[in-house]
Amino acid sequence: MNFTVTVQPSGRQFEVARDEVMLPAAIRQGIGLPYGCKDGACGSCKSRLLEGRVIHGAHQLKALSAEEEAAGLILSCCATPQTDCVVESRQVTAADQFPVLKMPTRVISITRAADDVAVLRLQLPANQPFQYHAGQYVDFLLRDGARRSYSMATAPSLAQGAIELHIRHMPGGRFTDHVFGAMKEKEILRMEGPFGSFWLREDSARPVVLLASGTGFAPIKALIEQMEVKGLTRPAVLYWGARRAADLYLRDWAEAAAARLPWLRFVPVLSEPDADWSGRTGLVHQAVMADLPDLSGHQVYACGAPVMVQSAQRDFVAACGLPEEEFFADAFTSEADKVAGA
Ligand SMILES: Cc1cc2nc3c(=O)[nH]c(=O)nc-3n(C[C@H](O)[C@H](O)[C@H](O)COP(=O)(O)OP(=O)(O)OC[C@H]3O[C@@H](n4cnc5c(N)ncnc54)[C@H](O)[C@@H]3O)c2cc1C
Repeated sequence: MNFTVTVQPSGRQFEVARDEVMLPAAIRQGIGLPYGCKDGACGSCKSRLLEGRVIHGAHQLKALSAEEEAAGLILSCCATPQTDCVVESRQVTAADQFPVLKMPTRVISITRAADDVAVLRLQLPANQPFQYHAGQYVDFLLRDGARRSYSMATAPSLAQGAIELHIRHMPGGRFTDHVFGAMKEKEILRMEGPFGSFWLREDSARPVVLLASGTGFAPIKALIEQMEVKGLTRPAVLYWGARRAADLYLRDWAEAAAARLPWLRFVPVLSEPDADWSGRTGLVHQAVMADLPDLSGHQVYACGAPVMVQSAQRDFVAACGLPEEEFFADAFTSEADKVAGA
């Protein structure tokens, strides 16, 4: 028996099988619910249950406090309906919704952009057109059913049959230990995508703050390329935070883009600056707040470490007047974050 979920205020409906989690059913049926990590850690899919009953996977609730749950909030990525439900949620629909595909992909090249950052280029299958929006991500499907997510670093129109990913090594990590160890060119991986609701809202004329920490730069690079390809000229400023200068692994790319594009500025920010660093220092989201104390007219795209994304969302809204609905983010949650949350 299926349950029907109605999304308000749009009124769109979708079916959820018994024991099925809400979000995967919505993705499969092309319902544009907002989401990020799909694992209960980032909170992007938080919505309000107006009618009906759901149960949450108890171990996955980092992004939902007991108070929020008591107040009727749910995380659609780990909520399993027990009845028909009515949910209040923003709808996020891009001009085109692309189908989620499972496909094999072959490693074309693995290069080091920094000691702990690999640039992975992957061949897309010729017989299965893979379409995505700049800012979206793919999941690698590991043998035991685990998944690992990585954001495309190239605008789709520049991809030419291949995608580029920027992968930071997390020592002890299942997938990245392999990328930095035994992975070879021509290896076949299984992947699924595209996923995510982190893409450029092209219907807005608001100036844009692009905020990245570490490899959170990958989807931000794709957004900048997309703006250039589309001929958009909305003012945009890229704040890229890292510990040391060497961690800004494509700093030349960012500087060249800012020199070439009159609408783009680039502000690198180091939290543990090298002795010869004369640029900005401190926490990257605080550099934004120092430069732009009034964000009420802006749109913000933030990507990278969960703590950076959460701090930026909280502080930009509370202290700088950013409207909540103008903040878009993907938090790069890992197993360590999920364990910390549980
Ligand atoms: C939407 C999204 C997009 C992402 N995009 C990118 C991207 O473009 N680039 C990128 O670099 N990353 C990205 N990530 C993060 C990425 O998906 C992985 O989480 C990350 O690469 C680590 O994977 P792993 O398998 O190597 O490590 P994991 O196996 O997940 O382990 C991560 C760390 O936690 C530790 N750990 C593992 N299990 C435990 C445990 N039980 N207790 C305590 N510690 C533990 C490990 O030792 C390791 O240090 C993204 C994440 C999301 C959600």
